[in-house]
Amino acid sequence: MNFDGQPILIEFRPQLRASRGKLVSGGDCGSPVHAGSFLRERRIVLDRALLRSPAERDRILVHELFHFVWWRSGRKMRAAYEALIAAECDAGKSGEMAWSAEWRRNDLISGDREGRTRRWREYLCESFCDTAAAYALGIESHPEITLGPGARRRRHQWMAANLDLDRLRI
Ligand SMILES: [Zn+2]
Repeated sequence: MNFDGQPILIEFRPQLRASRGKLVSGGDCGSPVHAGSFLRERRIVLDRALLRSPAERDRILVHELFHFVWWRSGRKMRAAYEALIAAECDAGKSGEMAWSAEWRRNDLISGDREGRTRRWREYLCESFCDTAAAYALGIESHPEITLGPGARRRRHQWMAANLDLDRLRI
């Protein structure tokens, strides 16, 4: 896996939480999160607890790096990923490749997809990042994976056709 672009600062902070759209360290507002990315600042903040679990740290860090890939990717690639997910929804498939996309998928309400609302677009982005991270790291099983094998195979094929792991623009 090779990321190609300007440097991104990676910081570790204790007890990360998301509160009212902001990333905070410590306290008891909002809910605990593993990480957050600041695309324009080119900065990723990871929870310090991840230092103790290298596999989880890699999974979360690569997910965050794919936020930069999604941000840089053109309309065509985003539309192609949206079509993949829309086909899954039409086929009645449920489940995701990690919790980040899963909870956003569960939060969708009727009309989000048709209206391409912010909730739908954020879900697509998280789904892309979770799926791409699992693909890039070769993660085949994880407690957060709830997507069935058929849909998983199609996502894998989509990633293989659309991502060049040797040259990921960030
Ligand atoms: Zn994310």
